[in-house]
Amino acid sequence: MKIIIHRGSKEIGGSCVELNSGETRVIIDLGMPLVKANKEPFDSKALEGESVKELVRTHILPAVSGLYEGEKSTINAAILSHAHQDHYGFLRYINPDIPVYMSSGAKILIEISDLFIPTKANLRNVVPFEMWHSFKIGDLAVTPYLVDHSAFDAAAFVIEGGGKKVFYSGDLRGHGRKKVLFDKLLSAPPGNIDCLLLEGSMLGRENGQYPDEKAVEERMVNLFRGKKNIAFVFCSSQNIDRLVSVYRAAKRSGSLLVIDLYTAYILDRLSTVSKHLPQFDWDEVRVKYFQSHARVLVESNQKELLYKYQEAKIKIEDIDQNKENIVMLMRDNSIFKACLQKLTNLEGAMAVYSMWDGYVTDKFRNVLAEHGISYEHVHTSGHAVVSDLQRLANAINPSHIIPIHTFYPQDYLSLFGNVRLVDDGEVISI
Ligand SMILES: [Zn+2]
Ligand SMILES: [Zn+2]
Repeated sequence: MKIIIHRGSKEIGGSCVELNSGETRVIIDLGMPLVKANKEPFDSKALEGESVKELVRTHILPAVSGLYEGEKSTINAAILSHAHQDHYGFLRYINPDIPVYMSSGAKILIEISDLFIPTKANLRNVVPFEMWHSFKIGDLAVTPYLVDHSAFDAAAFVIEGGGKKVFYSGDLRGHGRKKVLFDKLLSAPPGNIDCLLLEGSMLGRENGQYPDEKAVEERMVNLFRGKKNIAFVFCSSQNIDRLVSVYRAAKRSGSLLVIDLYTAYILDRLSTVSKHLPQFDWDEVRVKYFQSHARVLVESNQKELLYKYQEAKIKIEDIDQNKENIVMLMRDNSIFKACLQKLTNLEGAMAVYSMWDGYVTDKFRNVLAEHGISYEHVHTSGHAVVSDLQRLANAINPSHIIPIHTFYPQDYLSLFGNVRLVDDGEVISI
């Protein structure tokens, strides 16, 4: 078996790996990069109006023969680990003859992103897989393992063929709401792994002040219990683990959780995958309608959902009158701005920032200060800390570990055994 990391051997983002048995070629993930070659942030505007040929020539798209639209396909299938842009963002360029395997949860989240955000994946040949159920692609057998990550329904993969076995970690962690999955991986790891492609996002990084998702929930409970005015929580509506933490903290503190239409729609769609996610019709949940979200639902012929969620609808005036009992999820600045204009007296309100705080601008902090809103950062990473990665590597005990999804591949040498450093595009025979 041959492995080629087309992109991701020395960076976080833009992951793309090829496995080639000689008979079968499979691509794992085809992500959008987070950084350019010079380490500056990658701007998706660089893609606008460019042909696949041009994007390959300028090294924005990895040079993978037979993968893209407009040429004869020689790739048997692509498999996607999870619905984060740095793993699926370039699938839009894939030849539609190539089936793309992914979990049902990933499929739903990508479909929703396609409705609500301008950069579309536009997937035309999706085949959903079930976790723990092996499937064949040519002479390769793929087994998806459900993993704990900030993306919902995320997978790691065992891929077997020609007597060799590869474990691709995807993105994972051992401190989220599905920690039990990580523990299970440690206690019953896949055996006889020849090569472990191991993510290392947390190398060279701090985890932040909260060690796990439980601690995030506890901190929020304390904050919400003591609040005298509304609490705004800024988090990604696609980070389902975090939504559950916010919901639980709101409920435990006797507050109502106000979500927006977009979030209500995500949770509703995902109810086909999990029955345990908070929903619009749960007692402690209300839905605030915003025009921009309503328009998307109407334009995608789902107007009936506006009636469906109606029973939970809350008006801004009702939020205003009941501020001290409300935790309100915030999605982006335009919506936040609209709320700031309509809500009276926000002195003593709080903004709980529940994402990586590298996104926080001075402008945002100034707006909060102007309104007398305090700022709290409550977050934990979507990625495993180094000690958990070491436990995982020890449990799997592979013949080789190859770094991926990390800015510090060299550091693997001192942290793990049997490390093999590779370059993007290098052909690795195992
Ligand atoms: Zn990632
Ligand atoms: Zn991810």
